[in-house]
Amino acid sequence: KPSWQNKHIVVAGLGSSGVSMLRFFQSQECTVQGYDAKLSAERRAEIAAQCPDIELVDGSLAQVLQDADILAVSPGFPSRQPEVQAFAARGGKVVGDVEIFAQLVAQTDAKVLAITGSNGKTTVTSLTGFLCEQSGLKTVVAGNIGLPVLDAWMQNQGQADVWVLELSSFQLDTTSSLQASAATVLNISEDHLDRYDDLLDYAHSKTHIFTGSGVQVLNADDALCLAMARPNREVKWFSLQKPSDYWVDVQDATLPLKAGEDMLLKAQDLALTGLHNAANALVALALCEAIGLPRAGLLPLLTQFKGLPHRVETIGFYQDVQFIDDSKGTNVGATCAALQGLQQPIVLIAGGLGKGQDFSPLQDALLHKARAVMLIGRDAAHIEAALQLDVPVVRCESLEAATQQGFALAQAGDAVLLSPACASMDMFRDYAHRSEVFIEAFKELSQA
Ligand code: ADP
Repeated sequence: KPSWQNKHIVVAGLGSSGVSMLRFFQSQECTVQGYDAKLSAERRAEIAAQCPDIELVDGSLAQVLQDADILAVSPGFPSRQPEVQAFAARGGKVVGDVEIFAQLVAQTDAKVLAITGSNGKTTVTSLTGFLCEQSGLKTVVAGNIGLPVLDAWMQNQGQADVWVLELSSFQLDTTSSLQASAATVLNISEDHLDRYDDLLDYAHSKTHIFTGSGVQVLNADDALCLAMARPNREVKWFSLQKPSDYWVDVQDATLPLKAGEDMLLKAQDLALTGLHNAANALVALALCEAIGLPRAGLLPLLTQFKGLPHRVETIGFYQDVQFIDDSKGTNVGATCAALQGLQQPIVLIAGGLGKGQDFSPLQDALLHKARAVMLIGRDAAHIEAALQLDVPVVRCESLEAATQQGFALAQAGDAVLLSPACASMDMFRDYAHRSEVFIEAFKELSQA
């Protein structure tokens, strides 16, 4: 019987995942209440319309949890606050939507492919989903990518051949029963240090993706990922540095992608650009091979996948200057990867909410490559302090100003790259809004 049967459940944090849990539990034999300390009247009405039978409770979290058996938290809800710890200490269960999904899917024969990491999750998840789908499997892509796993479950009546899940560290923090057929941690670089004690603590939360006995797909170039290989498990390694189960031979100028000795493709055969994307392609291949899909069918499909918007996406050229939108570059690792993948001189536009990151890796990535650095947003000064370049490093009032002034400093053949290494919420609604503003600024320039 499901672990929530006849239990009293409080769902905390009523964003899209929270509401998916309310809707799911509504159909189950249990008592469920919703809790969110910051609910607007508008949102409250929306939720009431979607889940008419569910009580929304107010008051302190401690009070709300008094009679509860299970606290079901959404990824945005700070699950490490003292009230939650006290609840767990007296035997309360703390779960997230992915944990509930994991318990459901374990009752079926479906395969699960699970993907986490600091960068590349959405790209690898979409590509893996595309490969599975095109190989003829009934495929559902869900999780952090935008469709909460329980919504995906309900929409498909729990039916799929394979579930391809993008999982964030916050989702994995509250997941303990996942039995993925194959799972990967793509890389670990600094991110979300405002919610974790330190990098090890953050990396540790990601290892919850490896419970069960499935194949581990791991980054041989990343010290923290190296330490994640578990005894008695099948591990497939990938590398951009050395021969491996899946690797790019960077000694060879044509950048062949290889599996062991076998030649797979040349990097230029991929529609995706940048070495980091060659790694992403190899991981998707490894995950699909781990569930038995034949390589011969997968390789042609790999070359077809175009990549996603806002991730090192060229938005246009003006006076021979390329404008590139990498608004999804929300941490230092992503911005370094974007810079590494580009060969021409770069005017970088960066800055925003730094989430406690160390910006010093940007120094090496920019050295000999930056034409100028334009800084915006709340943590501009932190980035500036980490850079010692002999090119202009300019603070700008707005993204529009940074785009214009950056273009003025660019020379023919250069690129103006928006890759902020920061979250956007100090100046924008989200990263997509930041892109829109950049694209508008580009249009104004090029149409002036
Ligand atoms: P996530 O879902 O983990 O945020 P995305 O696929 O949306 O990952 O990409 C986010 C950012 O990270 C983009 O700027 C992208 O260019 C960069 N990126 C993608 N894959 C990698 C990788 N394997 N290593 C480093 N950076 C990457």
